[in-house]
Parts: sequence; C-alpha cells; structure tokens
Amino acid sequence: MAFEIIDFHTHPFSDEKNNICSHKEFIPMDAAFSMDVLKGLGISKICGSVVSRDNDKYETLFDKIKENNDEALKLKEYYKGFYVPGFHIHPNFPEESISEIKRMNKEGVKLIGEIIPYMDGWKDYGDDKLYEILNEAGKHNMVISFHTIPENITGIEKMVKEHPDLVFVAAHPGEYPTLMMHFDLAKKYDNYYLDLSGTGITRYGMLKRAIDVFSADRILFGSDYPTCNPAMFVGGVVNDALIKDSDKEKILSLNAKRLLDL
Ligand SMILES: [Zn+2]
Repeated sequence: MAFEIIDFHTHPFSDEKNNICSHKEFIPMDAAFSMDVLKGLGISKICGSVVSRDNDKYETLFDKIKENNDEALKLKEYYKGFYVPGFHIHPNFPEESISEIKRMNKEGVKLIGEIIPYMDGWKDYGDDKLYEILNEAGKHNMVISFHTIPENITGIEKMVKEHPDLVFVAAHPGEYPTLMMHFDLAKKYDNYYLDLSGTGITRYGMLKRAIDVFSADRILFGSDYPTCNPAMFVGGVVNDALIKDSDKEKILSLNAKRLLDL
C-alpha cells in the first residue's frame, strides 16, 4: 500500500544560519535540495518552525524569534503548498507573542512550534507567563508542537492541564524513561499527543506500544529534518510489520490533516 506522508516535524531553511544539520559542510544543502530529498522519500508536505542558534547577534531574543517567524512565512511562499509553517512564541515576551499569534492567524497559520526553549533562552513550560499566550492560541484553535524536556515534567504537565482545549504534540519519544513519562501524561490528558521525530523509534516495538497507549489517533509522523535523516523515519513507520495499515495512515498523514485543517 502506498501511503501519503506528511512530516509534522521539520526545520526548513533557506540559508546557512537556519540549517541545523550537523554535517552540512559536507552536503550542498539549500531549500530546493530539501524539497528534492523529502519528496524523493514520498513526503508530500512538511510542517514546523524555522530555528537558529546564534542568540548573541540579536538585541533581544524576540528579535530572533520574529526573524525566524518571518523566514517561515517567506518559505511558505517559496514552497507553495509543500510547507506548512510553524512559529515561535516566548514567555518572556507575552505581548509580542500574542501579536505574533494574531499576525500568524491572519496568515492562516495554525501551528506553534516546534518551540525549543533551550535554543531561545528559556526553560520552563510551567512559566505563568505562558498561560496568557496559550489562551490567545486557544481562541484560534492552534496546535502546539513542543520539544520534550524530561527534567521539566512538572512544567509540561501544568501547561497541558491548564489548556485542555489545546492540542499539545510532544516531540521525540526519547529513550525508555522519557517514553514512560509520555505514557503517563497520555493516560491522564486527551490533548497530549506525540510526534515520532528524534530518538525513540529505532527501538523495536516502541511504536506498537505507543499506539496501545495513545491510540494511533494521537501519534504523528515526524523526522526532525535536517537534524535527523528522514529516510530512517519513513522506513521505521512504513516498514513496521507490527502496525496495521489503517494506523499507519493515521500516523503518516490523517492526524496532521485533522489537526492542521490540511
Ligand atoms: Zn525539532
């Protein structure tokens, strides 16, 4: 069976500073190259935020966030329907973050993140200042993709619990202890989802077990390109004989379509 594949977790780039591949010096990478690689693997759409690490060159961290969000909108134009942008918010800048939510809503953008606190100089999902920002996101029915920080489990739980109407997609199943943490939260909160990018899916049986806990309705295919090799993730889901085709379909595309109105 041929599956439609939407990669829910990528970090697209058009220039060097937003390319977070660790091996980029050895590969001629640009925006066109990314599309060739991903489409070559059968991926018909990608989602996610533009990121950068060089925080020192900005006067305030929100300047960086704004620049990355602007870049996401530019890439949306460049890629036409291939790229579904995600954008950043920051708890230290509540007013500015709320304006970004309003601006992105006008642009038809529904995805916040992947938000990655350690890259943007913050660390607590339980920060009270996030509450107001996420309330605004709730008014527009947005979806939050967030980087899993196992040490911040209390913060994660608070964020998910305080906003039962918002969907939170945790990025990266992680190794066994982190996976168990995801399972605990998935059992308690229906608005807690998981994307398969990063560490986790190479462990045999992990996906099958995650489906038993989350159900296939709350798991999304993601690769974390260009940090990770998307070929591994396509193979890990498409070729997993433990998983029913109907569950693969949900994970590979139907859930992303439902959440982001694609
Ligand atoms: Zn990521």
